[in-house]
Amino acid sequence: MTITIRAGDIASVGTTGLNTRVVAGRECGSCTLCCKVAAVEEVRKPNGVWCSHCVAGKRCTIYDQRPSSCRSFYCQWMLEKTLGPEWKPERAKFALVKTDGGHRLTALVDPGFSSAWRRSPYYENLKHWAAEAARRLPDIYLVDVLIGQRSIVILPDRDVDMGVIGHDEVLRLESRTTAAGPMIEVSKVKRMATAA
Ligand code: SF4
Ligand code: SF4
Repeated sequence: MTITIRAGDIASVGTTGLNTRVVAGRECGSCTLCCKVAAVEEVRKPNGVWCSHCVAGKRCTIYDQRPSSCRSFYCQWMLEKTLGPEWKPERAKFALVKTDGGHRLTALVDPGFSSAWRRSPYYENLKHWAAEAARRLPDIYLVDVLIGQRSIVILPDRDVDMGVIGHDEVLRLESRTTAAGPMIEVSKVKRMATAA
């Protein structure tokens, strides 16, 4: 059996259709990391570089006119009460985001700290979530790390460095039933090839 899902676009800000209720008492404070690690189409900003409107650690200089995707964005630390203070992006050096209607959980890593996701307790949690994702057949979802445009897919049994994902490419996960149990493979495919 082969099941294929599309992993969608490089994670960018926007939480349409997902929980956006901020945990009581949580606030960004001096954290501005999403203004670096997330892509924002309206200001033509890719993942992993500071927005030209951000004064790092302080504020957005166009706050009252900031794009709608910035207005609606919250990282998972703001939304998920089980994530403790060590998951706050300015401390973790990455921001967790859910995209694709909840089918993709991505750690958007600060390229200045590109190994931050490998530290404890982060790595073991990413592996745990990847194992959970694999158990949801046929509704598997993607757990990955993005360092700029470079994607590393986290699977229960291995991590797969997919390199840079082009604007005309998407990630595809396939689950095959083998004698040893489900086996997940990941590949890059042209966006047009997934249109059917
Ligand atoms: S990464 Fe999260 S905590 Fe940090 S500024 Fe963005 S929304 Fe706020
Ligand atoms: S426009 Fe403002 S809120 Fe949006 S990414 Fe830039 S600095 Fe951050």
